[in-house]
Amino acid sequence: MTAVSASAGQARGPARLIDGFHLVVEALKANDVDTVYGIVGIPITDLARVAQASGIRYIGFRQETSAGNAAAAAGFLTRRPGVCLTTSGPGFLNGLPALANATTNCFPMIQISGSSNRALVDLQRGDYQDIDQLNAARPFAKAAYRINRIEDIGRGVARAMRTAISGRPGGVYLDIPGDVLGQAMDAAAGAETVWRIVDPAPRQLPAPEAVERALRVLARAERPLIVLGKGAAYAQADDVIREFVEASGIPFLPMSMAKGLLPDSHPQSVAAARSLAVARADTVLLVGARLNWLLGHGDSPQWSADAKFIQVDIAPAEFDSNQPIAAPLAGDIGSVMTALRDGLATHPVTVPAQWIEELAERTARNDAKMRERLAEDPRPMRFYNALGAIRAVLQDHPDAYVVNEGANALDLARNVIGMDVPRHRLDTGTWGVMGIGMGYAIAAAVETGQPVVAIEGDSAFGFSGMEVETICRYRLPVTVVILNNGGVYRGDETANGSDPAPTVLNARARHELIAEAFGGKGYHVTTPAELRSALSEAIASRAPAIIDCELDPAAGVESGHLASLNPASKAISAGG
Ligand code: ADP
Repeated sequence: MTAVSASAGQARGPARLIDGFHLVVEALKANDVDTVYGIVGIPITDLARVAQASGIRYIGFRQETSAGNAAAAAGFLTRRPGVCLTTSGPGFLNGLPALANATTNCFPMIQISGSSNRALVDLQRGDYQDIDQLNAARPFAKAAYRINRIEDIGRGVARAMRTAISGRPGGVYLDIPGDVLGQAMDAAAGAETVWRIVDPAPRQLPAPEAVERALRVLARAERPLIVLGKGAAYAQADDVIREFVEASGIPFLPMSMAKGLLPDSHPQSVAAARSLAVARADTVLLVGARLNWLLGHGDSPQWSADAKFIQVDIAPAEFDSNQPIAAPLAGDIGSVMTALRDGLATHPVTVPAQWIEELAERTARNDAKMRERLAEDPRPMRFYNALGAIRAVLQDHPDAYVVNEGANALDLARNVIGMDVPRHRLDTGTWGVMGIGMGYAIAAAVETGQPVVAIEGDSAFGFSGMEVETICRYRLPVTVVILNNGGVYRGDETANGSDPAPTVLNARARHELIAEAFGGKGYHVTTPAELRSALSEAIASRAPAIIDCELDPAAGVESGHLASLNPASKAISAGG
């Protein structure tokens, strides 16, 4: 145990005492936490103050879900747990969707929440904002812990850090009742209770026979395919992944948040021939990607019925969750890919030319279709034309981070906007959840200092739109582009009655005025040329901006690419 100086912790009480607030901050600092996202209120306001006074950057939000989403995105980007601070009761509850989303996406984050008096809560005596927070959080977190004594603060923080980041990363809930924060103990003894965890995410080497087995399966493949998922992006093993892909010559398909791990322009990328690659591959190497709904559960007819799967994952229980895994590779991606790369010397892989040609032909055909769509210039503008303009600007800014949410705004941007750099695309992820936009954008700007472009559907933006005030208050280099077709999916549904139809918002809404309200810059654009110029200017300014991009309300399809998951629309069309 490395003891930590308690010199900063003597603001309250006699000089030789330290209180819970200061000990929490000392424990966070000992574990390299340099930023905390949150909203203050009873009982954690002083925790934010003490953190800020001690040099931790505190970013205050307008709604806790966004603060939690920011912490989760920080975890994905930095491979260190992002920390979110919430108040008791409702503030805690608002943080839970983000905690659950982080856990689902395997992002390391810690929600630290103040909570009400245990004695009153447990007898249901009606305390201020009382909820049994520990048990409420449990189903949504990788683990949930409560600190009941000041002398356990260092241990509680260490345990939360270790759990969030080791093995399969996830969201951890750490409950600290207000009275524990207010307790005091001898400062020197308090310092002894805080420690820095050693080797937070230990390497996990694959068994040599598992590597051997995987290479043998690969060597027999006639139509091999590598699928890179966001676990591969998270692992920060970019060089060895690239070396393996290039040395093996196997075509690769990036899942959306793995785009840029190798550039989308890479000759082995088959992103533009996705359906064919998936349908025809006979051997699939999954690297940090689950065979969940995003990959059609590995089922035919989307996949070939006799496809063999090799899976690299740090969580062995993931294997066989959907399909038989012919060659499971349990371990961390850096170690496994190193072993696979080295194993190629003795187990060379030859990719048949016919497979490469088949994919290349489909890629060329789909690329040509895409170019045609992007070249159209209809009035009013539609999704492709707006995205074509955004793509042109982003090509000059490969270091810009892209945040993306919506239905059509997500599905189409994912295909149109290429990524050249790893971990520069953040989107709705495993759940396809709306509302991550501003939280993720804030984290990307805070953690990296690079420009961020958030490509938002107008409906999606609404879930976290008030955080534009946060973006403006901290003067973050975030440009929010709102693809405004005036509705959920689209804005032209005819109403049955005097109220607007359920999918309809306001296609004439001037979202850019929200930025202006808080001191940011607003743009309203109606053509690709105007969008290009506004976006170039906004990125160059490194200041907060919203570009409201007026689209045809008839542009877009219901449920985006997920129409098959929408039972209501199927029933209506079958009945009508
Ligand atoms: P995508 O949605 O991009 O397909 P998923 O979130 O489904 O990706 O899958 C990510 C997988 O990566 C998870 O199963 C997770 O356990 C795994 N993973 C995360 N980090 C690592 C790591 N460092 N090494 C190995 N596997 C990892």
